[in-house]
Amino acid sequence: MPLTWSVSRDQILHDCERRYYFQYLANAKINSRDSILREIAFLKKLKNIPGWKGDAFHSIVAGYFRRVRQGQFPTVTELVTELQDNMMNEWAFSSNKLFRTNPRAIDQDGGLALFEHEYEENPEFEVVPIIDSVAIWLYRFMAWVDDVDLVGSLARASRIWLEEPVYGPNAPGFKFSGAQVLVKVDLALQSPDGNFDIFDWKTGTPFSSNWGQFDSAEFQVNVYQLWPHLAFGHSLDSIRAHLLYVVADPVRQQNFGIDENVREQTLSFIRRSIDRVKQFAGLLGQEKLCLEDCDFALSMGKCRWCKFKRLCQRMTSDE
Ligand code: SF4
Repeated sequence: MPLTWSVSRDQILHDCERRYYFQYLANAKINSRDSILREIAFLKKLKNIPGWKGDAFHSIVAGYFRRVRQGQFPTVTELVTELQDNMMNEWAFSSNKLFRTNPRAIDQDGGLALFEHEYEENPEFEVVPIIDSVAIWLYRFMAWVDDVDLVGSLARASRIWLEEPVYGPNAPGFKFSGAQVLVKVDLALQSPDGNFDIFDWKTGTPFSSNWGQFDSAEFQVNVYQLWPHLAFGHSLDSIRAHLLYVVADPVRQQNFGIDENVREQTLSFIRRSIDRVKQFAGLLGQEKLCLEDCDFALSMGKCRWCKFKRLCQRMTSDE
């Protein structure tokens, strides 16, 4: 497996080295012989409620566009019903803690392991308002799709990327500084006139920046825009990125271009971050780092919602 890098990987490494170790270096599998590795593999699958809401929204939107490409046009009411059914099934699986006896089902249809259920946090929360809030995002999003005629843009596109898997022949990304840079775009359209539009649906507010002059969302779209440039040779002025914040009412759209300065700054940041990833992976002439080499989170606030906190605390007391 080649070395991989992504914006989210960089963010985790910046937030907490121990969390990075659990997430990316431990080589944990749900059927590992070692019980700690099995536990890490299980904890990696936990989602918190905001993450679950975001995934549910992205899944229904990607499904909608796939059907549109096949000539089917479900109504927003049908989409909301599907969303509600999916989320209710997942909630039932998680709230009954079925993930404990059947962890392999977490990644399948209807499977879910919520951080809040595993750690028994906020037991008083209710599912209906949670699902309703995602349904509201969906109504807003579909109104925006109509406003900007996104279905027409899909029909006119010469090539489309729609929530592609991060690995595989159609996976968005590019090679740089000895690593495969993973680009997780929600939708990208290449038009016959050579323009390239990248879309990212945002279901939260941007996470805090560790990039100085860029905020993190801006850094993310800069990396995304390097993909058509470096992988397909698109000129910088043919590439645009669009962030759509569905939590805002009405939805807020932010548009970005990229120029030579931003290209160079972004590549320089990525190179530095990849060097750090190589250091952790033992690719710079020293051994791969182990948990004891990794620092704790800079702020205790990061631990509050960390899915590895139970294991991290236990292993700290063992060290
Ligand atoms: S509990 Fe805190 S220190 Fe431990 S891995 Fe999570 S964020 Fe890092």
